Amino acid sequence: MKMKLIILGAPGSGKGTQTSRLKSMLNIPAISTGDIFRNEIKEGTELGKRIKKYLDSGQLVPDEIVIEVIKGRINQPDCKNGFILDGFPRTLEQARALDEIVKIDACINLAVPKEIIVKRLSARRTCRNCGEVYNLLVLRPKVDNICDKCGGPLYQRDDDKEEVIEERFRVYEKQTAPLLEYYRQRVPVITVSCNSVDAPPELITNRIIDGLKKLKLIS
Ligand code: ADP
Ligand code: ZN
Repeated sequence: MKMKLIILGAPGSGKGTQTSRLKSMLNIPAISTGDIFRNEIKEGTELGKRIKKYLDSGQLVPDEIVIEVIKGRINQPDCKNGFILDGFPRTLEQARALDEIVKIDACINLAVPKEIIVKRLSARRTCRNCGEVYNLLVLRPKVDNICDKCGGPLYQRDDDKEEVIEERFRVYEKQTAPLLEYYRQRVPVITVSCNSVDAPPELITNRIIDGLKKLKLIS
């Protein structure tokens, strides 16, 4: 399946969860800039040291750094047949840079009201080992605090604490929300709305799949 997708939505709209499900269903790699950055920080690399302060405070990592990282990743052989980008682009400048590298087939837009998102983010837990995302409201791990996939310990990201959530929202409204308009003018956009805290993730995935079928990107 050859398909180059991006997924847009506020922090906590379920981008990570949907991306991880689509990745296995469509058999394309998922690229999450947030995961890449957290991993660099965990490994204590030079890049990790340079970007830690941005992640800790809910600010965006500077465009030049993000663009370089994503270029390197998209040029890997496993991306030849398509990919799904989660958390990138996040600014108009990043979107323009992406346009220079590849042609995107479709944009998935997750529309979720803010009240729901705040509830969800506070309930989010992440695997310290493999990055898999859980939610104590809708997507609980089989065993408390343990990752179903790899057995690693679950934790709450510092930026999922309430003070930082507000800041991430401000940043999103200002810098990332305008991207939707940018993509509406350029590629087909599949919008899926979610209006309840406990909407099952598979329901949202099914609607995305329907949208991809309508666009004849999958059969
Ligand atoms: P969420 O989508 O839940 O907000 P992510 O895991 O995508 O979280 O991102 C976490 C943090 O990583 C962001 O707050 C930001 O500091 C940094 N980051 C991730 N992607 C980008 C990007 N494309 N541009 C700038 N900063 C980014
Ligand atoms: Zn894990």
